[in-house]
Amino acid sequence: MYATQQKLQRTSNKPKNIKYHNQKLILSMFRKAENLSIPDIADKINLSKTTVTKVVNDFAAKGLVKTSGKGSSTDVGGKKPELFAFNASFLHVITLSLGIKTLSCAVMDLKCHAISSRSVDCDIQVSYKKAIRRMADIIHAMMKEAGLSGREVHSIVLGCEGIIDATSGVIRYTVHHAWGTNLPVREDLARALAFPATIYVNNNSRLAGYYQALLNADLYEPVAVITSSFHSIGGSILENQQPMHGANGFIGEIGHMIIEPYSEIKCHCGGYGCFESLVSPQTVLAQAGKLYTDYPRSCLYRKAKEGALTITDVFEASNQQDPLACILLDKVIRYFSILIHNIVLLRDPSRIVIQGVYSSAGDYFLEQLRRQVNSLPFYKVERDLPIVYAPASALNVYLIGAGYYAVDVFLDTNSLYD
Ligand SMILES: [Zn+2]
Repeated sequence: MYATQQKLQRTSNKPKNIKYHNQKLILSMFRKAENLSIPDIADKINLSKTTVTKVVNDFAAKGLVKTSGKGSSTDVGGKKPELFAFNASFLHVITLSLGIKTLSCAVMDLKCHAISSRSVDCDIQVSYKKAIRRMADIIHAMMKEAGLSGREVHSIVLGCEGIIDATSGVIRYTVHHAWGTNLPVREDLARALAFPATIYVNNNSRLAGYYQALLNADLYEPVAVITSSFHSIGGSILENQQPMHGANGFIGEIGHMIIEPYSEIKCHCGGYGCFESLVSPQTVLAQAGKLYTDYPRSCLYRKAKEGALTITDVFEASNQQDPLACILLDKVIRYFSILIHNIVLLRDPSRIVIQGVYSSAGDYFLEQLRRQVNSLPFYKVERDLPIVYAPASALNVYLIGAGYYAVDVFLDTNSLYD
């Protein structure tokens, strides 16, 4: 059953439901905090210490919460309160992200700390059948290394590129891998695994957006997230903290919004002038290869000449006002501003979050982008649209987002609560 359906079933104010909500609220506090004492929790959610003690003891008996030492006393000479923490190793989640070049996998605890992660080659030449085999192999290998049995894994979440029907677990169409249409990936992966598993499938960018929802836990207004990797760009629209799917699973395929219809740059999808093809780091670096001879004094000149330039070099140089770097990024900024303008007219989000490669572009990119977006005619209507970078993360955002999704589903399991 889906988390949202479960939520709908728990909307009455009967005492049983109040108890359920209190239990759930307390467990979600443990998820976010390192350590909590009974008085801490009682103060924060305005419940009696007796009620909180009972809930925490029940969770401790189930193994979801464990004792974690003593806190500092607030009263002079008072007893130090016992501290409790979420038992993050109660279960584990496995997340997979199928990109254009690689298949990445992480084993995480319930706080989404990666116990291990790795990537294997899975580029667009790899057949669907082989990709399924690689997914199963990497899952089996990483579980063995972590010493986990199937029963210790809550679920597996697979993020894919392309149009995904998350409800049926079907890849409707991959943009980059030439696998055809309507691939029952959830069923096929389940069959390839040596243990019974609950598997969720979604679009990579939508899962990355889920991570953003958790970072903005109090924000229920629409949020638009633009997620870029080196090879592709996607996005997600969050409403009430849930990534939207749409009738056909198309929402978030912003990489294929046509931004420049007469562009000669061909996209992987077969179209021309798609956002992804215009702003991909590959396109920017190809542009640098054409332009650098006009900028002999640019700090990018030598590397561009040697073909050794990276997108990070361009970002760093733009923040030093290097003219070539600024010209390269100005074009990207222009395309981002058109995309954001279109998103605003469709969903009117309360903020725009930039994740992935472009989130490390630095001040020049962000300041110019804000200026461009706010100079569009529409913005004569006084309004505030924050455009922000997502915080940096050690693990790729697709894997973390997938982990948060799985843990959210876990915390929605009715059997955890009385
Ligand atoms: Zn395209």
